[in-house]
Amino acid sequence: MASADLARLWRVHEIDAALVDIRAHAGALDPGTKLQQEIAALTKHLEEKGGEAKALAQEQIDLELAQKSLQEKLKKNDRELYGGSLLNSREVEARNREMEMIKNQRDSMDERLLELMELVPPAKALAEKIQKRIDEKKAELAEFRKGALAEKSRLEEEFRIQTAKRPQAIAGIAPGLLARYDDIRKKSAGIGMARITREQACGACGMALPERSVQNAKDDKVVTCEACHRILYYSESIL
Ligand SMILES: [Zn+2]
Repeated sequence: MASADLARLWRVHEIDAALVDIRAHAGALDPGTKLQQEIAALTKHLEEKGGEAKALAQEQIDLELAQKSLQEKLKKNDRELYGGSLLNSREVEARNREMEMIKNQRDSMDERLLELMELVPPAKALAEKIQKRIDEKKAELAEFRKGALAEKSRLEEEFRIQTAKRPQAIAGIAPGLLARYDDIRKKSAGIGMARITREQACGACGMALPERSVQNAKDDKVVTCEACHRILYYSESIL
């Protein structure tokens, strides 16, 4: 009986459609792409801002050292000039000019050091803030991945359940009809059957069906949709 065969085949179709659906879901599972991109962008930002903070801090250290060495020179000079060392007046004059230059140098260093004292703390704070943001996003990603893995396991289990149902569902279906169905299914994105809607259209592609096709389906004949070539299924309990 075609009727019983088609009804059985519809059960197989429901299993196959569920499998298609599960595959699509599994394929669309997000591994956290958006969060990964955010982390990558923040890491790049940190590289830049962290580099700036480090350069400013290093400049401050270097300047402090340079300033210290100038300070030493000035002190040494004072000791020599006023400590009774043997310099003639011309030498004293030259030395004073040299010390004047050193003092100017030291003063401009002072200015830059004052600037750096203002610049370094906020630059460091910004880099730390970005690092904190990265840590937060990484924790968020770990949490997200846990959820995605749980969803993947759920889909795998559902896939296993549906697959296990199939051998029993195909038992008793005329081999010719099953082969035809499988052939159509493989050519049509995994969906080989379509229900006739209340509006007498193909439930898969939406094509309006000729009265003759609907009548044939009602008479339990194997009819296919002229547009998508799927086997049409008629049942009283249409949605
Ligand atoms: Zn169709």
